[in-house]
Amino acid sequence: MTQKITDLATLRRTIESWRAAGETIAFIPTMGALHAGHLALVEEGKKHATRTVVSIFVNPTQFGPNEDFNRYPRTLDADLAALASAGADAAWVPDVATMYPDGPKSTLHFCGTLTETLEGAIRPGHFDGVATIVARLFEQVTPDFAIFGEKDYQQLLLIKRLVKELDLKIKIIGLPTLRESDGLALSSRNRYLSPEERKKAVKLNQVLRHTVFAIRDGREQGAVEKAVQLLLDGGFDKVDYIALRDAETLEPATKPPARLLAAAWLGNTRLIDNFPV
Ligand code: AMP
Repeated sequence: MTQKITDLATLRRTIESWRAAGETIAFIPTMGALHAGHLALVEEGKKHATRTVVSIFVNPTQFGPNEDFNRYPRTLDADLAALASAGADAAWVPDVATMYPDGPKSTLHFCGTLTETLEGAIRPGHFDGVATIVARLFEQVTPDFAIFGEKDYQQLLLIKRLVKELDLKIKIIGLPTLRESDGLALSSRNRYLSPEERKKAVKLNQVLRHTVFAIRDGREQGAVEKAVQLLLDGGFDKVDYIALRDAETLEPATKPPARLLAAAWLGNTRLIDNFPV
C-alpha cells in the first residue's frame, strides 16, 4: 500500500511516526507520468532505507513561459498504482499552493558554469526552479537518502552542489539511465512522440554512443560537429547542443574522463540524453 498524502500536516506526522520508530527515509522527487526509470529509483531507495517517499509535483517554476507546463502528462491514478506495485510507502502529492504559498516563484539561485551552461543557458531560470523545489521538498520530507537519475545529469550535479552548499545531511545517489530496448532513454516526454518521430528518436542515443567511441579512440577532432549533422540528417529538427564536458564541473573538456551531453528536438518534443566518456 502506498499512502497518498496531499497535505503537509499529514506528511510531517507520518514522517515523525517513522522517525520515532527508528526508521530511515529514501526520497525520490518526480513530476509524475511515472515509467520504469522512476520505479528503478524507488527500488534503489528501498535498498538504502526502511521507508521510501516519492513526490509527484509538476513544478511550475522550472518551466519557461513557452515550455510544456500545461501539456505535461498528468497520470496520477496510474502513478499511484505503479508506486503501490513498486512498494513505495508514501506518495507526496502537494498542490501548487502548498509548495508556493506566496505564488510560484524561485527563491534559490546557484551561479557558475554548472547552472549557466547547457540546459541552464537554453532554459533560463530552469535550475532556479529545480533548486527551489528540491530544497523545499527536502525540508518537508527530511530524507536520509535522495535518489536521482543520471538522465538529468546536470540536475544531478546541481542537487549534489545544493546539498553541499546548504550543508544538508542527505546522501545523494545517482542512477544510470534506464532505456528502451532500442536505447532510447525512458522519459515522460516520450509519449509526445508520434510513431514516425519515435522511430527517429533512436538516433539520439545511437549518435551519442558512436561519438563516445570516437572520442575514446582519440578521434575527438570534429566528432561533436559530425554528431550534430548526423542528428539533423536523421530527421531531428533542431539540436540545442551536443557537448563534451568535464563530468563534475561541466567545463568544456577535450578528452576522457568526461560526459557527452545532448538536447535535440523532434517536432515539438525536446529530448535530452548523456553518456559517460
Ligand atoms: P522527472 O519526473 O522526469 O522530473 O524525473 C524524476 C527523476 O527520475 C529524476 O531524478 C530523473 O533523472 C529520473 N529519471 C527520469 N528518467 C529516467 C530514466 N530513464 N532512467 C533513470 N532515471 C530517470
